[in-house]
Parts: sequence; structure tokens; C-alpha cells
Amino acid sequence: MLFDNHNRPITYLRLAVTDRCNLRCFYCMPESGIKYLPKNQLLTYEEMERVVAVLARMGVSKLRLTGGEPFVRAGLMPFMERLSVIPGLSEIHMTTNGVLTAPHVAEMARLGVKSVNLSLDSLDRARFHQITRRDELPAVLGTLDELLAHNIRVKINAVVMDGQNIEDLYALSELARTQPIDVRFIEEMPFNGEGNHYPVLTWTHQRILQELRSFYPALEQRPAAPHATAATWQVPGYVGTLGIIAAYTRTFCGSCNRIRMTAQGMLKTCLYDDGVLDIRALIRSGASDTELTAAFLKAFAHRPLNGFEAEKHRQPVTESMSTIGG
Ligand code: SAM
Repeated sequence: MLFDNHNRPITYLRLAVTDRCNLRCFYCMPESGIKYLPKNQLLTYEEMERVVAVLARMGVSKLRLTGGEPFVRAGLMPFMERLSVIPGLSEIHMTTNGVLTAPHVAEMARLGVKSVNLSLDSLDRARFHQITRRDELPAVLGTLDELLAHNIRVKINAVVMDGQNIEDLYALSELARTQPIDVRFIEEMPFNGEGNHYPVLTWTHQRILQELRSFYPALEQRPAAPHATAATWQVPGYVGTLGIIAAYTRTFCGSCNRIRMTAQGMLKTCLYDDGVLDIRALIRSGASDTELTAAFLKAFAHRPLNGFEAEKHRQPVTESMSTIGG
């Protein structure tokens, strides 16, 4: 087992395979997009595969592919196939916006993808369009149907945004009534690519819970899974669950088992840090697997206690979540 300096196990890597996205969600990036990295600055699939294999040997057993939008990068499915046979890696998960995903779901099921987080902030076509700046709701719902048809576990991620999708919270929650879907509501974070932050967060996890309780007074809390970021709630009789992720309030850092790698190969040991190890530079300077392992161990020995401490040691956030992977 791999532990950090605060005795937290590190078992989970979130890998951004690209910084590009086919949506323009206003809370993630400006309408004009962000300055995408030139291709030679992205890690190649071979480089990513090597890093995953090194980390799997060290004790990382769970991998999430994210981005940007993973399916925007050509060659994703053959890459996933190679990942699926890496020794020690027991779970592959994905986060996707669902626009291009449906045709790949059968293959994902064949490769044993364990769950998919589908980002979906509104079930209303006009509001979806307004939030994402693209009219793609039907394609996303098509992906949801395919995932359910192939029995892949689905979690829906909805960012809760004042004045944007509050009227959607009930309709989204109702998806859990008859289907095995975990609908998770996420506090909005400052990673919008523009550096403009609200002075205070209006839809905190407490307020989201209050809103859910107003729909479902009998809401019952479920025990938290180890290392979970979501507090999980059950509406009696519903097949799926409701979750609330205090991503901005950061209530879960004490049990954080996750590390991130950006598409340009920057290691983040906390979502709120600025990148702590340039893996791309190491690899391209010819580092051996032993040297990579030593560099990882050094980074894990200096992990901030929580997201607030990580934030203290950096400039204010200006980056888009699309470069980090969520
Ligand atoms: N393109 C994929 C998708 O849309 O799921 C994966 C990448 S996306 C950056 C990952 C997650 O980050 C999405 O669920 C998205 O809603 C969330 N996200 C992006 N910006 C955010 C922000 N400012 N606050 C909270 N969540 C955010």
C-alpha cells in the first residue's frame, strides 16, 4: 500500500487524457474556449500508459479517465483496451459529458469499465443549451440510455448554479426513482478558466440538502463508502440515490485517496494545488521507471493536509477544470 505524509492511502488516479472539450459549460471555460495545449505538449498514450503502469505497481488500483472530454481525443478506446490489462489496476472508470459516448458504450462494457460519471446539469433542452453553450441534450440522454442498457453503473454529476439550474434539481433527482442512478449535486468551484470567483458560494452543500429535503422530507442518509467525496442520501423506495459533493467547502480531504495527472503530465496531489511534479519533463528527459517511482514517492511525502492548505501555496485559481479533469 502507498501512503502519503498524513497516512492516507493513495489508491486512485484521475487522468485527464486531453484538455479539449466539445462543450463550453460557462462554469468551466469561457465561450471562446481556453488556449488548448499544442499536441506535442500533451502526454502521448504511450507515456500515459507507462505512468499508469508505474503507479499501479506502487499501489494505485483505481483509474478514472477524464479531461477535457475524453472522447474528443482520437484513439481513446484502443488506449482503454491497453489499460484494461495493466497488472494491479483493478478498476477503470470514466467521466464524460456524453455527447460522443453512446457508440462506445458496448465496448466499454466489454472492457469492464466499472462506472461512468455523466455530467448533466439540466434535463431542460433550453437550459442545457444555455449552460453548456451547445444544443446536445438529446445526445447525452442517448448515452444515458445506452449505459443503463449495458448495466454500467451510472452517476450523474450536476453542478448546482445559482440562477441557472435550481429548477432542475427536482427533475434530476427524479431520475433515481425507477433507475439505478446515483444523482450527485456538486458545489460550484472556481475553476472556470477566467479567474472570476463569486465572493461567497450561495449553493453550499447545506443549502443543497435543504432543497432536497423540501422535495423529500423522508430523505435518509446512507453510510459513506470509504474515501467517498459524496454524502449519499436515499429517498425511501427509490432505486437510485442522491448525493451531495462539497467540492468547494472541502469536507472530505481527511480521507482523500486520489491524485490527478493533467493532460500535459503535471501531477496534482490535491485538486487545489498548482501541480507538484512535471512528469512529462521527467519522462522526456529519459527517466527510468525507478526514477519515476522515486519522484512520485517524494511528491506523496509532501502532500498538503487539505485543499485550503494547498491553495495557500499558489496564485489564485485561473485555470479551467478542463485542464484538470474534475
Ligand atoms: N468532459 C467530461 C465531463 O464533462 O464530464 C470530463 C471533464 S469535466 C471537467 C469533469 C467534471 O468537472 C464535470 O462533471 C463538470 O461538471 C465538473 N466541473 C467543471 N468545472 C467545474 C466547476 N467550476 N465547479 C464544479 N464542477 C466543475
